[in-house]
Amino acid sequence: MILTKEQNKHYLRHVIIPEIGEEGQKKLLDSTVLVYCENTDSLRFLAYYLAAVGIGRILCDLKDKSGADSLFAEVIDLNNDTRIDFLDVCDEEKDSPQNYYRIVLGNYNFVKNITRKLLNDKYVPTVISLYNQWKGSLQTFVSEDSFKSFVALMAGNNTRESGSPFLANGLSAALCAAEYVKLCLNIGNIKGDMLYFDLYDLEFIQNDNNADLFEFLNEESKKEIRQKLSEAKVLIIGAGGLGSPAAYGMAMAGIKTLGLLDLDIVEISNLNRQILHSFSRIGMPKVNSAELMLKKFNPEINIKTYKIELNKDNAEQIFSEYDMIIAAVDNIPTRYLINDTCFLLNKPFAEAGILMFNGTATTLVPHLGHCYRCLYPQVDTSKFSGINGILGCVPGVMGFIEAAEAVKIMTGLGKTLKNKILLFDSLEMDFNIIDIAKNPQCPTCGQQ
Ligand SMILES: [Zn+2]
Repeated sequence: MILTKEQNKHYLRHVIIPEIGEEGQKKLLDSTVLVYCENTDSLRFLAYYLAAVGIGRILCDLKDKSGADSLFAEVIDLNNDTRIDFLDVCDEEKDSPQNYYRIVLGNYNFVKNITRKLLNDKYVPTVISLYNQWKGSLQTFVSEDSFKSFVALMAGNNTRESGSPFLANGLSAALCAAEYVKLCLNIGNIKGDMLYFDLYDLEFIQNDNNADLFEFLNEESKKEIRQKLSEAKVLIIGAGGLGSPAAYGMAMAGIKTLGLLDLDIVEISNLNRQILHSFSRIGMPKVNSAELMLKKFNPEINIKTYKIELNKDNAEQIFSEYDMIIAAVDNIPTRYLINDTCFLLNKPFAEAGILMFNGTATTLVPHLGHCYRCLYPQVDTSKFSGINGILGCVPGVMGFIEAAEAVKIMTGLGKTLKNKILLFDSLEMDFNIIDIAKNPQCPTCGQQ
């Protein structure tokens, strides 16, 4: 046996994926990644997702180390197979940091300065992601020449202002973790093109050098977002793989009132992806574990927890207390119930689903767009029984997208996935948005 019995339980959702298996998981556990970030705020979600997927060792180069002790303790508690340390304390005599792959995650100025410094080190494959507010980029460099031209391109540009980490940081972090897993296991497609994303205008573009990544929301709209979110009430159904990043995303955006509904308790097999939970909280109700972490992250947030199962008898009453719903569930019957209740009460909801390396997301606004049953009028749920493989950082991508959708719905800003469905493939690092039409024959929102 390659993994221990406990590790097989822990990484079950990876082990059952043919491209990973026990051998792949072992490779991840034996690997060391070098991470370059400006500070712990910037590092947080990247460290969580690298630990969740089971990377054995994370060596961090942080410009500002304040808060690192507390973040490192959280990371080790999320996965006690992971060791996390500062790069400058590793013993270069015994160790060989010059052979490990690198991830650089940060704002424009940070990436510009650090990549120039990295030119002095031995070249290794490097994942680079920039983020700013709603927008970000991702590119994996597998040749020294392409890395050098990127550094030269950055050097030729002016430095730019950027604010504190926002939703794009979460998405960037989850994407970087996916790229690292692919590099490490030699699976999927590392294209080497730049992926540019904009969660505000919902654009995902490959290799577009003209895309203005660095234009960002001005201070006024940020104030507007905070003001509107301080009055909004959002309910998240599910505090697991999707609910974790969705809740962190809402907390990051400044939501004041958040409801969390989940009946389950934390189990070891959750920890390859559910970043709100940890080893020390195994056995605790997920809503309480989540509340604890979210309050630590943003002390100003008010959380109402529901340790119950959503059903026909309680859905209406609970939903009526909120402005919108984020569906972060793993089964079809609950999605139908959320859809039908939201339609009845005229509440919008953000929806996402995940399977292995893929994810989908859509936003449903009753009467103004399609509903869930327009997409899936009837599903034979018996086909979906059993446990599915899930690469741990894929729900991170989809959950932060759900949070971005919720922020846009609650503020009326930007473009949403209303009448659209987004398809994500982490192996190809591909995002596709497809138009969806309302179905006139729909059993929920159709003519009859
Ligand atoms: Zn419908």
